[in-house]
Amino acid sequence: MPELPDVEYYRIYLTATALHKTIARVEVRAPRILEGVTERRLRSVLAGRAFQSARRHGKYVFAAIEGGEGGWLVMHFGMTGRLSYFKDIGDDPKHDRFLIGFENGYFLAFVNQRKFGHVALAMSPEAFAEAKGLGPDALSIGREEFAVRLGERRGGAKATLMNQKVLAGIGNIYADEILFRAGVHPKTPVNTLDEETLGTLHAVMGDVLHTAIAAKRRCEDFPGSYLLPHRHEGGVCPLDGTPLETITISGRRTYFCPTHQSDERE
Ligand SMILES: [Zn+2]
Repeated sequence: MPELPDVEYYRIYLTATALHKTIARVEVRAPRILEGVTERRLRSVLAGRAFQSARRHGKYVFAAIEGGEGGWLVMHFGMTGRLSYFKDIGDDPKHDRFLIGFENGYFLAFVNQRKFGHVALAMSPEAFAEAKGLGPDALSIGREEFAVRLGERRGGAKATLMNQKVLAGIGNIYADEILFRAGVHPKTPVNTLDEETLGTLHAVMGDVLHTAIAAKRRCEDFPGSYLLPHRHEGGVCPLDGTPLETITISGRRTYFCPTHQSDERE
């Protein structure tokens, strides 16, 4: 599932391919992905305009619409979404749900195999984040605010890191990675973490997200000391050789090391 580093990659991709190009046509192939906007409205807002810049908040990409009424196109990639920019319509990906055709003959497709992603319009990324109740972006949040926001929660560490209302951008894979590297058991109640551990978690979160963005989603480009290349059946902890264990948290398969992420409550 696309998490902050993947979505940051799509923001960079959109910036590199689709800015300042006049939009000739818009096709919605799965109206279900539209959230609070009709195909007709989307067409009237986008046709003849261009994207000016792209931003990201948590797992959302925002593309600023140049001229006209302005506003921003919002994209959320759901479980499997991605963007694809191509010239030959024959290269149109199979699960293309939303297609933008540019005057230069190229296309930008919003590809979403399982259709859980969505497309919307917003006045600004800030207004959208506020309306959705999203917490601060996980890459921008400062150490103090991070400690305050986690400290007032009662849930377990993993569930809290994944709660988009606490902070936006972390999902299953990177929540596990952050807790693994910080040596925190995924079920530790966040309100029992001391100041020092919260500081460590915040620092590790930044490191992990920057490393993941640099690795551009390629598993083999992650350091061998990371959990990611080892999260499979029979995987062992790269730090101490203990067989990794799995539990289910918030309905998601969770990997952790029972040695260096021991549950201190037991
Ligand atoms: Zn370990």
